[in-house]
Amino acid sequence: VGNIDKIEPDYFRPFLFENGLMPSTWIVIRLDGCHFHRFCKIHEFEKPNDEKALNLMNSCAAALMEEFHDIIFSYGVSDEFSFVLKKDSQFYQRQASKILSVVVSFFSSVYVMKWKDFLPHRELKYPPCFDGRAVCYPSSEILRDYLAWRQVDCHINNQYNTCFWMLVKSGKSKREAQDYLKGTQAREKNELLAQQFGIDYNALPIIFRQGSSVFRVQEEKANGYGNGASVEKLNTRVVVEHCNIIEKHFWKEHPGILD
Ligand code: ATP
Ligand code: ATP
Ligand code: MG
Ligand code: MG
Ligand code: MG
Ligand code: MG
Ligand code: MG
Repeated sequence: VGNIDKIEPDYFRPFLFENGLMPSTWIVIRLDGCHFHRFCKIHEFEKPNDEKALNLMNSCAAALMEEFHDIIFSYGVSDEFSFVLKKDSQFYQRQASKILSVVVSFFSSVYVMKWKDFLPHRELKYPPCFDGRAVCYPSSEILRDYLAWRQVDCHINNQYNTCFWMLVKSGKSKREAQDYLKGTQAREKNELLAQQFGIDYNALPIIFRQGSSVFRVQEEKANGYGNGASVEKLNTRVVVEHCNIIEKHFWKEHPGILD
């Protein structure tokens, strides 16, 4: 090692790589459980959907939104969650590596801390991890398209997985179930569920079919009585809902989120 006394912090600066996310764009952080196929098996998740595990994911997302106010909307399905930061967020000067690492590590820690609240009778056998990526979307339209894409994916996967696991639970091998479903259209899958298993797909729990949206709502806290009632202050609350975010309707109903 050369003369260590002469090293100034600026000496290392040129080695940093540029990772600033484009200004004035919606930053989306999507995290996804690593090898959750295995994680679910080892922790005996109900198939195709373990509702308690989904609620744990949702609770982690809500905790993240309580902690980091620049996150304005989150959408989760299966072992993934997307977090949307407000367009002009200056969170960590928009450095991708900082934002990603903070979001992913906070989420992972909360997941472990809250495990026993949601799955009290199942021991957490090893530390789960999540990978994350950051993408910038330049318009609210493209951002909504992105979220719609994740919700369409939720629907397609859930429909497939519901059929697959019904076939497996009825005695088919995984390979047979896979072959059976190869090339089937959405309508055929719904018919299979109805005819063979008496299941109305659209009557399955909405959390499975539409995933989970987490966002803030403002509640008006009225003060006083009768005609003289006045609004004292607005309480902000993080809520988890299972709603259609593909249609424009949701965004019209909640104009405060993206505008
Ligand atoms: P990778 O590390 O590449 O993400 P993975 O095994 O996590 O690998 P994914 O494509 O992310 O692969 O799939 C997640 C898996 O976890 C799927 O098999 C999904 O059905 C399962 N899974 C996630 N959450 C639940 C849940 N709440 N209940 C039942 N299964 C779940
Ligand atoms: P930032 O979020 O910007 O990193 P910070 O408060 O974590 O803020 P650091 O510059 O990372 O600031 O400094 C870490 C602080 O934690 C220091 O005050 C350091 O003394 C303290 N600290 C870390 N580890 C220990 C330890 N094992 N024992 C005592 N103090 C510690
Ligand atoms: Mg992955
Ligand atoms: Mg995964
Ligand atoms: Mg996944
Ligand atoms: Mg630091
Ligand atoms: Mg520190």
